[in-house]
Amino acid sequence: MRCSLCLALELEPSDIGVSWRWLANKNDRMDSEIILYDHTPGGAGFVKEGFNNWEKVVKEAKEICEKCTCEKACYDRLKSYSNQSHHKKLDRSSVRGFLGNNGRDPGAGISSVNFFQR
Ligand SMILES: [Zn+2]
Repeated sequence: MRCSLCLALELEPSDIGVSWRWLANKNDRMDSEIILYDHTPGGAGFVKEGFNNWEKVVKEAKEICEKCTCEKACYDRLKSYSNQSHHKKLDRSSVRGFLGNNGRDPGAGISSVNFFQR
């Protein structure tokens, strides 16, 4: 989601931070949440702009996942140095499932994206 946000708004990956957390257990399953935030102290307004242009961000994310020909994930698209501890779990088909409803509906174990303004 960080890559797609950066592509949609023409930002550098270093402009946006990304994290995730487990959410309270609802309906007997563990939900998780992606958290996007501006790296600039005080906030640069980038994630807010991303939120306001969410359709564009989702379109970029879908292209990242659909244009690749690798089985699950590769360094051309989903893998990066910063997410290396999650490389074994990355799967572009799961991301497509999550994005099926514009990233607003449960899927792929991710239930929401939170835009954090600090
Ligand atoms: Zn790939």
